[in-house]
Amino acid sequence: MSILPPTKENIQFAADALREGKLIGLPTETVYGIAAVATNRSAVLSTFDLKGRPAENPLIVHVASMSQVEPLVASIPDSAKNLMAAFWPGPLTIILPKSSLVPDEVTASLQTVAIRMPNHPVARAIIEATNAPLSAPSANRFMSLSPTRAENLAPEIVAGLACVIDGGDCTFGLESTVIDCSDPLQCAILRPGAITRAQIAEVVGSLSLPGTTERRSPGNYRRHYSPRTPLRTVDSLGPNESGIVLDRPSGAHQIQLPNDPVGYGALLYSTLHNLDQLGLTEILVESPPTTPEWEAVWDRIRKAQG
Ligand code: AMP
Ligand code: MG
Repeated sequence: MSILPPTKENIQFAADALREGKLIGLPTETVYGIAAVATNRSAVLSTFDLKGRPAENPLIVHVASMSQVEPLVASIPDSAKNLMAAFWPGPLTIILPKSSLVPDEVTASLQTVAIRMPNHPVARAIIEATNAPLSAPSANRFMSLSPTRAENLAPEIVAGLACVIDGGDCTFGLESTVIDCSDPLQCAILRPGAITRAQIAEVVGSLSLPGTTERRSPGNYRRHYSPRTPLRTVDSLGPNESGIVLDRPSGAHQIQLPNDPVGYGALLYSTLHNLDQLGLTEILVESPPTTPEWEAVWDRIRKAQG
């Protein structure tokens, strides 16, 4: 197995492997994913095996065009159409009532399906060359950090893939925002992400407030996206403490991240990955601001903390 540059030949090789029912690693603008043809039940099941992901945790189906969306869904409410027009292609996953084409294995037997149209040119090229919608959860073992660069895929994941196509560093670096639009009257954000609550509210108007909706996301766990090293947030790091800071580092194992949520989010996982290699007893994270634009970053920090 190898990590391959995104040439035309390699993209065709990946598409052929997918059509044969194999799994491949692909870059997206959020994180690297493990792709399978979403309508191939056995390929979808092997995705769960490779990740050690519980069967109750549904997968996101990735498409490259609206003509690939229509066969997957029973209907598209206006709220979802407006969100697609505003944010697709991009890091927004929309939950809609599913059609019978989508296997139960993908949706964890729910009657809804999560769909996203990525904007990463390599992801799009692979979906187009395969000419099929692709299920693609993050390319990590369940609970661990999502890879945001090809070399950060764990060897045991890479071993289960026909290839990984290297698309460089992921520009967003955090998983997509997940919004449930299966109730046409009221959308609800199930997972904060790169597209902020404020951006979404501008398009759909009112949103169910967190905690007020009965709709739950089966794959939402308190601990997720975690490094192996224990992690703790603090007000500031002392000179000999190791971890992530927002100001100038004052110790050998302090890494400074940008004091803006987009720049911070893009580098968070790769930085935690690097700190995780140092054999530290603990990773300390200087608390970033708590203003609304930081919601997705805070969600991932809390989950990394467990
Ligand atoms: P990921 O772990 O990045 O592959 O994202 C998949 C997440 O999307 C799951 O863990 C769920 O939280 C959510 N999700 C996917 N499909 C559905 C669905 N049909 N209903 C509710 N949440 C879903
Ligand atoms: Mg994941």
